[in-house]
Amino acid sequence: GAERTKNVLIIMSDTGGGHRASAEAIRDAFKMEYGDEYSVTVKDVWKEYTGWPLNDMERQYKFMLKHLQLWKVAFHSTSPRWIHGCYLAFMAAYYAKDVEAGLMEYKPDIIISVHPMMQHIPLWVLKWQGLQKKVIFVTVITDLNTCHPTWFHPGVNRCYCPSKGVAKRAALDGLEDSQICVFGLPIRPSFARAVLSKDELREELQMDPHLPAVLLMGGGEGMGPVRKTAEALGESLRDKKFDKPIGQLIIICGRNKVLKSTLESLDWKIPVKVRGFETQMEKWMAACDCIITKAGPGTIAEALIRGLPIILNDYIPGQEKGNVPYVVDNGAGVFTRSPKETARIVTEWFSTKSDELKRMSENALKLAQPEAVFDIVRDIHKLAQERGPLANMPYILTSSFTRLI
Ligand code: UDP
Repeated sequence: GAERTKNVLIIMSDTGGGHRASAEAIRDAFKMEYGDEYSVTVKDVWKEYTGWPLNDMERQYKFMLKHLQLWKVAFHSTSPRWIHGCYLAFMAAYYAKDVEAGLMEYKPDIIISVHPMMQHIPLWVLKWQGLQKKVIFVTVITDLNTCHPTWFHPGVNRCYCPSKGVAKRAALDGLEDSQICVFGLPIRPSFARAVLSKDELREELQMDPHLPAVLLMGGGEGMGPVRKTAEALGESLRDKKFDKPIGQLIIICGRNKVLKSTLESLDWKIPVKVRGFETQMEKWMAACDCIITKAGPGTIAEALIRGLPIILNDYIPGQEKGNVPYVVDNGAGVFTRSPKETARIVTEWFSTKSDELKRMSENALKLAQPEAVFDIVRDIHKLAQERGPLANMPYILTSSFTRLI
């Protein structure tokens, strides 16, 4: 007979752009693969259903990123299991009723967590409700390498790891092989599915049709040494002898409005485009030849899919640090914090060392996992099917049970 629509609840928090991006990628892939079989909701459960400090994570995270030492201490001091375990147990006891109400409102058949702090409390809630055998709970890790141990919880049905390195950490932290899957970081389906020609894109985006192009960005918030790097490139990508540019520069500032207006007010000696928050990153990346960015997992995974050699110029301590060797050791890019050095490398790639650019581009494509988001939703679908018809209506039983007590 006709299956009823299953409810999928994706829980995330807007700490950095990456968690929301992954959540929306998974939602879109469900729609493309299974249409109306699933109804998918993306929610910041903390913000809506708890009090301080959980509902305030976004602001605290931004504050700590401005004072990086603070974040470093917070990240590493909460790594031992007994510390975050106690902290989260306390929070769970305190906010149990609110989170419970928040989760149950959606009557989820499947809960997907894309946030390191969203395993413990929701899993406790499921246990209290007697639902842990009926509701599927999976974690999708959105850090490529050095991730925080709160990501790993032995009570999940699946833990989707973006790399073998993360899978190893999960195993060391006590997860079973049957719980661990390595498909890659989930990236917007438009990155995997679009067929794009560079010439057409350059015309559409009003770029120079022939000059090699470097894309400069700093995550969703426009972080890192963007301005200094842009200025250094403006100098070095100009051939002094023939008085002509040897490359063009695209700067995507994300939500950083100050950066955008500063860069727009400067004089440039090469073709430059300064853009704010772009919704079609797959087009800009496909129109360029290499990228300079901080070590954000989303941007890195997307650049790899487009075969862009990567210059990493910054990272957030803790979770982004391991992204650097992931790129560099696999031959897909280099790391330098110096804007001058960055400009020199790009200039060489666009003149004397084009073979190195080509080799790194090939290595990037080897690391790319454009199908990851589809592999993840197909595996979740398989889990849902294995549950069979018995688990079809988990909430009927529970609500009558609640009425009894
Ligand atoms: N992004 C975007 N438009 C912009 C700038 C960034 O869509 O103008 C996207 C980018 O493609 C990536 C995400 O925002 O998917 C940034 O994630 P990342 O993990 O690189 O860094 P975060 O911002 O989370 O620190």
